[in-house]
Amino acid sequence: MKDKFGRKIDYLRLSITDRCNLRCIYCHNGEFEKVEPSSVISYEEIFALVSHLKNKGLRAVKITGGEPLLRKDITYCIEKLVEMDLEVSLTTNGTLLNEKAAELYEAGLRRINIGIDCLEKSLFSKLTGADLYQKAVDGLNKSLEVGFDPVKINVVLIKGLNEEIDPWLKLAAEKEVCIRFIEVMPFVNGHKPVRCNEIKTRLKEMGKIKEISIQGRGPAEYFKVEGFRGTFGFISPVSSSFCSDCSRLRLNAQGQLRSCLFSPKTFNIRKVLRVDYSKEKLDSLIEEVLAKKPIDNKGLEPVENMCQIGG
Ligand code: SAM
Repeated sequence: MKDKFGRKIDYLRLSITDRCNLRCIYCHNGEFEKVEPSSVISYEEIFALVSHLKNKGLRAVKITGGEPLLRKDITYCIEKLVEMDLEVSLTTNGTLLNEKAAELYEAGLRRINIGIDCLEKSLFSKLTGADLYQKAVDGLNKSLEVGFDPVKINVVLIKGLNEEIDPWLKLAAEKEVCIRFIEVMPFVNGHKPVRCNEIKTRLKEMGKIKEISIQGRGPAEYFKVEGFRGTFGFISPVSSSFCSDCSRLRLNAQGQLRSCLFSPKTFNIRKVLRVDYSKEKLDSLIEEVLAKKPIDNKGLEPVENMCQIGG
């Protein structure tokens, strides 16, 4: 698949639920209207869409949400997507991983991203609105024990809130994890990011660093510090633009396809799959989505919370 600017599109961010058991302050803007259960895209509809997209060149799927591990039978979903011979990865807040990591691995999942923004219990509760710090840490440890590789930890640092870098440096010194610092995008409350360059400067003080490559599809740059077991990644949506390399489409939990995180325009794929199906109709809707993919996100404002769009 190509968009009208010639970018190759081969990656789908697949949100399977808008529900979440956390209320991260940069992700949730108060309560929002949840998708009615009858309007949630079914797994069978997802498989039909993914199979169609695969024939058009799709190579990778990231399962997201909301919190994807809240959705029933997630293991079945993963098993089927893995069977389709796609790169499958999952992003989760980790709080349910202690119970689910082994079955997810068994289903064929190998790559996992865990979002944890601080390593201190009371600050975690303040940032997430939930007292689930230990659950998240247990989930992280379980995923390492089960054998996921890579285990990436997504860390969103916000000025004046959770600015501390050193606990993450210590963690990567000791464990085989990839700590990925993500600059907060000011979707909610105008939060200011701790800039990736600031963190890189601190990293350089830790020893000799070299740029490396790590399996993945995102716009991250990766580094290793000599002597550390883990690695570091940097995703800088605020400091730099990576729209020119964007290869993504996004499907939200109600089966609406979007060509850009910031785009207000969605296309109702679920309706075509559920009510009005023909291969030609599906194809023409997908072509329309590709044609409408913006060149970049300048001048666009996200119209929904990240957990509704699918992070
Ligand atoms: N619940 C899952 C999780 O925690 O990974 C999946 C959904 S969450 C929306 C996916 C990712 O989006 C998280 O790693 C989170 O850090 C990131 N995210 C959400 N809002 C963000 C924002 N405003 N700026 C940067 N990253 C954001």
